[in-house]
Amino acid sequence: MSKQTEIVEATKQYMIPNYGRLPLAVVRGQGSRFWDADGKEYLDFFTGFGLGGVGGHCHPVLTAAIVKQAQTLTACGNYFTNEPQVELAQRITERAFGGKVFFCHSGAEANEAALKLARAAGKGRFKIVSFHNCFHGRTMGALSLTPEKFQKGFEPMLPGSVKATLNDLAGVEAAADAETAAVIVEPIQAEGGMNMPTKEFMQGLRSLSDRKGMLLIVDEVWTAPARTGRWFAYQHYGIEPDVMTLGKAVGGGLPVGACVAAPKWADVLQPGMHGCTGGGNPLCAAAGAAAMKLIEDEDLVERSARKGAELMDAVRRAKVPCVKDVRGAGLMIGIELSRPGKEVFTNCLQRGLYINCTADTVLRLAPPLTTPDEDLAKALDILLDVLWK
Ligand SMILES: *Cc1c(COP(=O)(O)O)cnc(C)c1O
Repeated sequence: MSKQTEIVEATKQYMIPNYGRLPLAVVRGQGSRFWDADGKEYLDFFTGFGLGGVGGHCHPVLTAAIVKQAQTLTACGNYFTNEPQVELAQRITERAFGGKVFFCHSGAEANEAALKLARAAGKGRFKIVSFHNCFHGRTMGALSLTPEKFQKGFEPMLPGSVKATLNDLAGVEAAADAETAAVIVEPIQAEGGMNMPTKEFMQGLRSLSDRKGMLLIVDEVWTAPARTGRWFAYQHYGIEPDVMTLGKAVGGGLPVGACVAAPKWADVLQPGMHGCTGGGNPLCAAAGAAAMKLIEDEDLVERSARKGAELMDAVRRAKVPCVKDVRGAGLMIGIELSRPGKEVFTNCLQRGLYINCTADTVLRLAPPLTTPDEDLAKALDILLDVLWK
């Protein structure tokens, strides 16, 4: 039995089968590449759903920060504070809209914190408006906001979870009432098929939230930091949210979730109202702070915008007949096909290019922001070649 088969078989034996996994075990990564247990090399154009999206695998600067912190202090609990979490919070808020941060480990947990904050701020308001085709996570609160197909078998959901349609402001207005605490929106719907809200809609949501006295929560778990060619994707729309949630790449490859509250709401959650035992632990926070610094030092916001535009342009210019639409922002790219994308995904993987396919027909590319030009070109070659077949 090969090492790979051995690990795959052990996975089936010992792990709860809640993921539709490929029969591949990843053993090593470097930059925009990783290797499976058979030694096969892949270009990583999805970085574990964006988790390692800033520096790719084992970026020397991030690795050094992690090793240094691992030798200094990894856990101390939240009866104390620690410098790395404060540094990460400062770097986030200074690049966003000020305010204050709560740390946890995942995007779903960040959204849970946002929901509690919105209910606490709303003093009796409890309803939350979210959007069809959204994704906010798998915990019961986040799941309540997420589409019905993920909820099946786990009902009942949180009372007051109301759905509206993206880019239909009148629908949001109709869905919101005096009991609505918040509306939560992804600045680009990622898992739901790379659906783009219009600027007009996002600005409309902002003023509607103000008028109705509800909080505007922006779920930036996929779209930040720097992924879309801005530090945070809400910045494309000329608005500021009341609350922003972060996850995935914000930990520089280690698990970090964050709920960022604007100054007006920064002190809503008082001692005892919320918590997370390992949230803001110095190890993960140091990795996150190093990732934020890396973005700054290497100008990765600008690089994401420039390389993403080039890549989208190149795919459009190729005029492959099965490509219906190319959309996205920065290095968060969706390619909608006129046929199911599964076969393209499989063929790319076989050729050593790992991408993603969501909502059946939408291919997604989200390479590390540091991906060198030669790897961007190589991935494009493979992708176009597979698409033409
Ligand atoms: C992935 C994702 C989540 C959930 O994050 P987890 O870390 O898996 O809990 C929430 N919101 C958005 C927009 C996501 O893409």
